[in-house]
Amino acid sequence: MSVVVLTNDDGVHAPGLAALERALAELGEVYVLAPEREQSACGHALTLHRPLRPHQLGARRFAVNGTPSDCVNLAVLGFLPAPPVLVVSGINHGANLGDDVTYSGTVSAAMEGTLLGVPSIAVSLVDGGDLDTAARVARMIALRVLVGGLPAKTLLNVNVPARAPRGIRLTRLGHRVYLDKIVEQADPRGRPHYWLGGGAAKWEALDGTDMGAVHEGYVSLTPLHLDLTNHRALLQLNDWSAGLNAQLLSATERAPRRVSRATPKRKPRRG
Ligand code: MN
Repeated sequence: MSVVVLTNDDGVHAPGLAALERALAELGEVYVLAPEREQSACGHALTLHRPLRPHQLGARRFAVNGTPSDCVNLAVLGFLPAPPVLVVSGINHGANLGDDVTYSGTVSAAMEGTLLGVPSIAVSLVDGGDLDTAARVARMIALRVLVGGLPAKTLLNVNVPARAPRGIRLTRLGHRVYLDKIVEQADPRGRPHYWLGGGAAKWEALDGTDMGAVHEGYVSLTPLHLDLTNHRALLQLNDWSAGLNAQLLSATERAPRRVSRATPKRKPRRG
């Protein structure tokens, strides 16, 4: 039976993960590797400066002292008896839409799976929505991916609306209008401190976007591509190359040669 890995950024005890686990139970040998505590908005962080210690909570359930991307790395790179055929991240408590996906630990886990060559899905539920509905949607889409696969370097970002879905729409990412300000306050000793994320969220035109679909009561399904190169800009900026090269090379010629005074000059050794 094929191995399927579930993770999230709300922590291993989150109800969204349990709902996903129940819904996908029959799709394969389902393993859960999830952060031992909440990691929302941790983005794509990896833990490189301390060891990861999976703590077994059940036959195929592990709490990890790390991030969602750490969990996916463990799962894909050898912690499990076989490499997974599918990574599903979620069901996140709250939507992951538009530009906000860049902060999302839920979406980053699916990015990590994709980078490691495993078809991956991120599933999020708008605040106040029904977990069982979201889990049913996740199961449908997971099955579809297991049967049909996904295009190269592409993951699916799924958002389920708060009310009973009117259908599923394939969408593009929406864009935020950044109105955020930092909020400065003073502590009891008069020292200033700052809060991020205070401003209201505003979005550009909703037509065709993930935000628009969810707003109108549809499940949004956005294929995300991990080739971050802007190929059109690459063509547009092509003529920068001659000028920048001329500048760089002439500056190098003029730069003074650095002589180290700390170590005596030695003949280079060969061999
Ligand atoms: Mn979260």
